[in-house]
Amino acid sequence: MKSHTQSRRTFLGSILSSVTASAVAQQSSAAAEPILDIHQHTHYHDRNDEHMTAHQQAMGITKTILLPAGTPTDRPSTHKGKSNGLAARCGGTETCMKIAKANPQAYLWGANEVTDLESAPAEIEKWLKLGACIIGEQKFAVECDSAHSQKLYELAAEYQVPILLHFQHMTYNLGYDRFHAMLAKYPKTIFIGHAQTFWGNIDKAHDQKVLYPKSKITPGGITDRYLADYPNMYADMSAGSGLLALTRDEEHTTSFFQRHQDKILYGSDCADHFGRGPGCQGAQTIAAIRKLSPNKSVERKILWENSQKVFRL
Ligand SMILES: [Zn+2]
Ligand SMILES: [Zn+2]
Repeated sequence: MKSHTQSRRTFLGSILSSVTASAVAQQSSAAAEPILDIHQHTHYHDRNDEHMTAHQQAMGITKTILLPAGTPTDRPSTHKGKSNGLAARCGGTETCMKIAKANPQAYLWGANEVTDLESAPAEIEKWLKLGACIIGEQKFAVECDSAHSQKLYELAAEYQVPILLHFQHMTYNLGYDRFHAMLAKYPKTIFIGHAQTFWGNIDKAHDQKVLYPKSKITPGGITDRYLADYPNMYADMSAGSGLLALTRDEEHTTSFFQRHQDKILYGSDCADHFGRGPGCQGAQTIAAIRKLSPNKSVERKILWENSQKVFRL
C-alpha cells in the first residue's frame, strides 16, 4: 500500500514537473516568437479593460491594435443606431487611446468615425495627429466606393496609415465586386480587408448570400484576385469568418498562405474572457495558422513580420 502511494506520488510529481516545464517552454517560445494582433476592441460586449488585457496576455500577444467604434448616431449608415459601437457595444477612439498611452509597449490604437458624417475626415485626422496608427474598423452601411469613403481612403494615404474595412454583403461596405476600382485609384492607400464577404470571396464559387460557407474552395475568387493583383490589398485573419476560411478546406489554406504570404495579418477580434482553449476563437486562429502554414517562415510573417512592416514598427 505504502509503495503504491509512493509510486503514485512520484508519478504525479513527474506529471507536474513536465507540465511546469512545458509551460515554461511555451512562455519562452512566446517571448522568442512575438505575435501582433491587429484587431481587438475595448468594451467588446461589455468586457472591461482588465479582462481585455488579461485575454490578450493569455493568448500570448506581444502587441495589440485596438480598433474603436464611431460616434453613436441614428442614421441609415448605422442602421438607425443598431450598428453603433460596431454592433457589439465597442468603445470609441478615446477608450483605445487611453490604454495605448498607458502601455505603449503592448498597445497601439486606431481612429474611427461613421463614414458618411460630414465631420468624419476632420474627426479622424484629429486622432491621427495624436498618434493613431490605423483608420477603422470601418463597419458602416455605405457603398465601398462612396464619395465619403473615398475621402477616408485619401486621408489614409496622406497619413501613411492603413484603413481596415469590414465587408459584409448587403450590410457593411457594399459593392465588394467593384472594390478593385478603389484599389487602382488609391495605390498609396493600404487597404486591409476583413469579415464575411472578404473571406467568403477567396472561393471562386462563392454565393454572396452565404456569410459562413463551409464547402471546399475553388481558388480564384474576388479576394484571391485582389490580393494577387493589387500590392495595396492586405488580409485581416480575424473573427469567425477568418478562422472558418482557414479550417473549411485545409489543403487550400496551405497554398493560399503560400501565394499571399506577404499580405496576411493575424488578428483576433474575439470578445471572450478566456484567451485560450475552445472558447477563444483568436487562440484557435493562431493554432490554425501554426498548423497550416507551409513552413515556419510563412507562419512568422503572418503572426508578426507582415504587420511589423505595414505598421512600420
Ligand atoms: Zn468586423
Ligand atoms: Zn479570445
